[in-house]
Amino acid sequence: MTSQTKYKRILLKLSGEALAGPTGYHIDPAVLEQYSKEIKKVVDMGVQVAIVIGGGNIFRGVSGERSGIDRVQGDYMGMLATVINAMAIQSSLEKHGMYTRVMSAIKMEQVCEPYVRRRAVRHLEKGRVVIFGAGMGNPYFTTDSTAALRAIEIEADAVLKGTKVDGVYTADPMKDKTATRYTCITFEDVYEKKLSVMDLTAFTLCQENNLPIIVFNMNQGGSLVRLIQGEDVGTLISAECA
Ligand code: UDP
Repeated sequence: MTSQTKYKRILLKLSGEALAGPTGYHIDPAVLEQYSKEIKKVVDMGVQVAIVIGGGNIFRGVSGERSGIDRVQGDYMGMLATVINAMAIQSSLEKHGMYTRVMSAIKMEQVCEPYVRRRAVRHLEKGRVVIFGAGMGNPYFTTDSTAALRAIEIEADAVLKGTKVDGVYTADPMKDKTATRYTCITFEDVYEKKLSVMDLTAFTLCQENNLPIIVFNMNQGGSLVRLIQGEDVGTLISAECA
């Protein structure tokens, strides 16, 4: 079945905030359910899926700093938050019949495996969904940078950034009615036009390693499958556009 798919190995980046759903409160079971169904469809198509999940729904280092928590301490708290989200996704994916592993950049043996690149790749080859928790294990980074780094390490075909919007626009579509979505845009153009796709560290990692990024709406049912099938979904950011 893999022949129908444009991508064979993907790194799916999901934001912690999206997991909170409309309630904005921690983890919304309806969002987990929807994500799991979408992911199951692509796993069944033979696609190898790795996931990086954020922690913004629970804790962010920068916000912690504002309330008096030391930045580095707060960043570690944020990394632990991503493990909570990773475990929630793991549980939901398993309920939907998928085999999974959580691999953490911070050792916590009783909870999940430590991150070892070769083992991660082996899990993927066996059809297990691998969820990377605890970011990179270092403060002052984000889960977007983690997604870029892990995608490069496991030689994923692309980073798929699931968001609440369906791609990158010429202007803010909420404010400007004439704004249009880019089907494809080069790394250079994103940089020159100062469009926000990922933080600069993450973006530069992708650009330097020629790793395509696709920004798409994960909350729109079926979009992940259509993207994998090569349909015009979201915005592709790559070195060149046809
Ligand atoms: N974080 C970190 N190092 C990493 C990844 C994450 O310090 O490699 C911390 C950082 O404080 C960040 C928080 O974890 O604010 C949650 O991650 P992020 O903000 O990327 O989550 P998202 O915005 O995707 O929900």
